[in-house]
Amino acid sequence: MHAAAYLEKLNPQQRRAVEHGVSGPDEARKGPLLVIAGAGSGKTNTLAHRVAHLIVNGADPRRILLLTFSRRAAAEMTRRVGRIASHVLGPDAAVLTEGLSWAGTFHGIGARLLRDYAPQIGLDPNFTIHDREDSADQMNLVRHELGFSRTEKRFPTKGTLIAIYSRAVNAELPLEEVVGRFFPWCAGWGAELKAIFGGYVEAKQAQGVLDYDDLLLYWAQMAQEPALAAEMGGRFDHVLVDEYQDTNRLQASILVGLKPEGRGLTVVGDDAQSIYSFRAATVRNILDFPGHFSPRAETIMLEQNYRSTQPILGAANAVIDFASERYAKNLWSERVSSERPVLVSVRDEIEQAGFVASQVLENREAGIALKQQAVLFRASHHSGPLEVELTRRNIPFVKFGGLKFLDSAHVKDVLAVLRFTENPRDRVAGFRVLRLMNGMGPATAGKVLDALATGPLLPTLECYAPPPRVSGDWQDFVALARDLKGGSAGWPGELDRVRQWYEPHLERIHEDAPTRQADLVQLAQIASAYPSRERFLTELTLDPPDATSAEAGRPHLDEDYLILSTIHSAKGQEWKSVFVLNTVDGCIPIDLGAGTRDEIEEERRLLYVAMTRAKDSLSLVVPQRFFVHGQAARGDRHVYAARTRFIPPRILGHFAQAAWPPATPEAPSPAANDTVRIDLSARMRGMWR
Ligand code: ATP
Ligand code: MG
Repeated sequence: MHAAAYLEKLNPQQRRAVEHGVSGPDEARKGPLLVIAGAGSGKTNTLAHRVAHLIVNGADPRRILLLTFSRRAAAEMTRRVGRIASHVLGPDAAVLTEGLSWAGTFHGIGARLLRDYAPQIGLDPNFTIHDREDSADQMNLVRHELGFSRTEKRFPTKGTLIAIYSRAVNAELPLEEVVGRFFPWCAGWGAELKAIFGGYVEAKQAQGVLDYDDLLLYWAQMAQEPALAAEMGGRFDHVLVDEYQDTNRLQASILVGLKPEGRGLTVVGDDAQSIYSFRAATVRNILDFPGHFSPRAETIMLEQNYRSTQPILGAANAVIDFASERYAKNLWSERVSSERPVLVSVRDEIEQAGFVASQVLENREAGIALKQQAVLFRASHHSGPLEVELTRRNIPFVKFGGLKFLDSAHVKDVLAVLRFTENPRDRVAGFRVLRLMNGMGPATAGKVLDALATGPLLPTLECYAPPPRVSGDWQDFVALARDLKGGSAGWPGELDRVRQWYEPHLERIHEDAPTRQADLVQLAQIASAYPSRERFLTELTLDPPDATSAEAGRPHLDEDYLILSTIHSAKGQEWKSVFVLNTVDGCIPIDLGAGTRDEIEEERRLLYVAMTRAKDSLSLVVPQRFFVHGQAARGDRHVYAARTRFIPPRILGHFAQAAWPPATPEAPSPAANDTVRIDLSARMRGMWR
């Protein structure tokens, strides 16, 4: 067979990465491969080609482990692999790539492997998984049990507790060091933190519950047991990882455990895009890779950017050039354009919203679909005024990285029922379900859960005599549990049975029941794509779909819609036209007061990530002032904002500058305008509090 046509589209470095260890007699080349390269240089694309090329050349797709940053990215990658491979294999490619079932996130794959190996490591294979919110709730339960209620005003909140715990686990650092370096204001609580974390671990074990971090932790520990590691590693001929710069130490140690020699291991990433240090990701993983596997590792750099026009890339390079750390990259693009990225000055966030909405519509008129456009922001709440404006103008949008579909109360309720009947020891799910019953107080719910901690579900429920006021709801629930345990409904019929049970509760609790019902219909549709309840629960908990719930605006999934996304969630993606909101100090970099030098540097990389998402046009919006809520007596007032420090005067030449709305001679007097605008803004901001 002559070289496959798909190889000819690649540049020489990309091709070398794709063919590494596949063709040619040189055994040594089968060593580990690192592709380190800047944004838009085709890393993800190269990885997809490599997987396809492996399969075309006889690799067994069932023995390929593909680790990506999100489940969406894994699905997209699998699709691309199929498309590429079909050039050579024709219809056979579909069958082969279907076998590519080990594609997912570290957490998702970890959960699957843990279920397989649970009996060997003393874990109940029916464990349920707690998301971050559940984990924080569990942390809170323990805190109350231990008597550390928040009588003391400065005691860390449940969110801080879980953040500290998680950071210590993922960075493999002692608690004292994590608190001292990242949470210094909690330093006085060392003993209490230790007690709570100890109780938290015990509670999870007693309940058969794993949190996100446990999925990595247990996996990493399995990977350190030589026999288990060899067995697990032996299941995969190839292990490939995208976005390696955002993995943490646990993840790196998992890879080393699976492939101690690095054989069949490929990682790709960009050190200039490392933006997850708050989850203990460390750029050292990527930088240390060649040394760790020396001298067998091969490193390939890609330098041509295929995504962005030269002016956009030039501006992004200028921003990252000022980084205190040097990135060994010399990215260039062939895509000429006369359009520089634009710094758009607007009066405030209301005008920012007006500008973006108008521009988006103008772009659509010019033939750029809404889906080809994205609005990016540093923090989820930054998009509040824009969401109001888009809704007002009937511009459909979907928000990524914000209030997730699964975070909404009604969806969580339904999922909690499934989880609770699967694992009745799960107290967070149990509380959620039992408290739905009219008249069921926390003390009664606690008693039921205590009984379930040691007894099996159905007999325990059937023996329990609830207080008379709960009795009707109780009988309904026992009937539901019986049906679910009986298994007659099958999957996804079980979910319909839960929805039927939930309906009266929904109507009682929520005024907007019909909209929420629509979410649950959507949930049922999602459920029907999963082969089993267990896969559905696991994968949804780990990586929820990017739908927006009724609580955060209607979904518009079948139409053309604009993408709103935090910069973090925009990783790896690209759009023709990109808007970045609030390109000012205090938003990016966020939180100037507390920022250490490392944190500020990470904010610079975030701006770099945001800018490099754009293919053809990029607007960075700079509101001149922000409203802040002052003391009640003084009412709301505004503060002036300055363009982000990451675009200093020296690099302004890379940008065009504009003001919006464009100044017109007959503009009304600013004073008259101000009074109206200030009130409106304050009201709108109040909505997003
Ligand atoms: P990021 O760092 O943002 O994750 P990346 O390095 O993974 O970016 P890709 O997303 O793989 O880059 O590719 C960026 C764009 O360049 C895609 O649209 C891709 O199709 C295109 N591209 C990559 N390689 C080539 C090539 N050899 N010829 C033409 N287009 C290419
Ligand atoms: Mg990529």
